[in-house]
Amino acid sequence: MNRVTIVAIDGPAGAGKSTVAKTLARKLGFLHIDTGAMYRAVTLSALRQKADLKSDAELEKIARDSKIELKPGDPENKVFLNGEDVSREIRTPEVTQASAHIANSVPVRKILVSRQQQMGRSDSAPYGGAVLEGRDIGTDVFPDAQYKFYLDASVEMRAERRLKDLEKAGVKTSLEKVMEDVKARDERDINRAVGGLRKTPESIVVDHSHLTVEGSADALYQYIRQHAR
Ligand code: C5P
Repeated sequence: MNRVTIVAIDGPAGAGKSTVAKTLARKLGFLHIDTGAMYRAVTLSALRQKADLKSDAELEKIARDSKIELKPGDPENKVFLNGEDVSREIRTPEVTQASAHIANSVPVRKILVSRQQQMGRSDSAPYGGAVLEGRDIGTDVFPDAQYKFYLDASVEMRAERRLKDLEKAGVKTSLEKVMEDVKARDERDINRAVGGLRKTPESIVVDHSHLTVEGSADALYQYIRQHAR
């Protein structure tokens, strides 16, 4: 059993996990760990080094050499790669696309899962717990998490939200294109041989399609309060 309270939030891309996890962590006074940001940081490092994205040996070395720090910030959390603030750079479409290769690499997953377990257990001690969000938290990273949520939203809603984010970042695209991307990412996330996106039998499914961030975070918070373990 975990010494500290672990809240696992899994779900598909664009379902709003990051904002909900961040709000929930703040309400609980817990550490927030965005595991997707860690895969993105390794991806950025691999792209910068022009690594062969299909070579497990190259990717493993890059993952091992990447010191990744997640620091709470407002409105956005900060992500540091070997001391450099890469919070914005890890969100580019190029990194998003290449991250699928990094997420497929078994040695990289081993390294990152082990770091996530360490961060969840020890760094969160002063917080009393951690909220981790990703795809494999309830299945592989913390199969014994006290609380497991699966945050879902329709493809249409996720594509609309994604489009708004991309527009804000100055990227020109269309709803159709974003919808295709969202579906392709779902396909890859679900069919990945290791660390694929799956609900566990005990996952509480929350549909975030028509809820606000506050609304979903509050639903999770109330559930935790009512089922205190
Ligand atoms: O959630 P986000 O889009 O930031 O994830 C970035 C990449 O990392 C995606 O390719 C996603 O599939 C992958 N990922 C993963 N396991 C996690 C979190 C994210 O494979 N726990």
